[in-house]
Amino acid sequence: MKKIDEVLAGCRSVAILGHVHPDGDCVGSCLGLYHYIRKRMPEAETDVYLEPFPKEFAFLNGADRVRHEFDTEKVYELCIVCDASDRQRLGKGAEILDRADRTVSIDHHKTNTGFAGQTFLEAEISSTCELLYEMMEEEQVDREIAACLYMGMIHDTGVFKYQSATARTMEIAGKLMSTGIPFTDIIDRTFYQKNYRQSKAMGQALLNSSLYAEGMLICSVLTAEELKRFEASSMDMEGIVEQLRLVEDVEAAAFLYEMEPGIFKASMRSRECVDVSETAAAFGGGGHARAAGCTLYGSREEVTKRLLERLEQACLRKG
Ligand code: AMP
Ligand code: MN
Ligand code: MN
Repeated sequence: MKKIDEVLAGCRSVAILGHVHPDGDCVGSCLGLYHYIRKRMPEAETDVYLEPFPKEFAFLNGADRVRHEFDTEKVYELCIVCDASDRQRLGKGAEILDRADRTVSIDHHKTNTGFAGQTFLEAEISSTCELLYEMMEEEQVDREIAACLYMGMIHDTGVFKYQSATARTMEIAGKLMSTGIPFTDIIDRTFYQKNYRQSKAMGQALLNSSLYAEGMLICSVLTAEELKRFEASSMDMEGIVEQLRLVEDVEAAAFLYEMEPGIFKASMRSRECVDVSETAAAFGGGGHARAAGCTLYGSREEVTKRLLERLEQACLRKG
């Protein structure tokens, strides 16, 4: 029996949770698991809880059944958390986790704190979706499940180009493709396509950027006031830090945006050697060596100074 079936055996109610500000891997893994459980155990009561997510992901089957209001009174026999490295990353979902009889974390963040009763952690695997595929019975993975897992895989590998993508990643992607999923559409509509707000915000972020550490580090900030001007929200920030990282000779990129006055979300990426998860962890965040994030509190000047001090050191050490 595959691992996920062992976890599910005999269970009558399951809550599936992901992290706050759900990204492609988070939404893909939660919905992929949802369809798998519905297929394997149609009798079980299965609910997915996620914060509102970008509407590009809404084409996935089951997206309309995701609950955005967290039922914190209900007690589930099993709570499975996908793609989240610690309890705080669950937001309101933490209350559902705390009440559940049994808790399981399925994750690929090396900063996972072991917050669940049982942890399936594979930090070398590029996405939670890829890990989930490995935990599922292969012949049970139909087109509906495949579309969800494929979407998560492309998001966490930057369409298969990051260092984290392996020959096995491509092999699994091939198997998912062979179920007949609209893979071109999934890539274009959920990854590359930008709306007008996103494209304006990206433009401003690129204009605001500066180089540090002898050109090895690039950083940009969008303030709450700027976001308001473009009518952009946190859901429109995807892809900006990636674009910064593509600047020639840059080793590490940081992008911060002001979620609320004085509260900044920082996203970091690196190319080859700087471990940005160390910097993220130093500020209470987490992630992977080449992609990590954290939340910072203070004025724009304070938070950038604090973050850049560490990142600059990390770049110069490796440079
Ligand atoms: P992001 O920059 O938000 O795209 O996140 C990059 C990676 O770091 C993702 O794998 C996130 O799950 C992880 N991450 C981002 N923010 C945090 C945080 N505050 N705590 C832990 N992990 C985070
Ligand atoms: Mn994620
Ligand atoms: Mn992930």
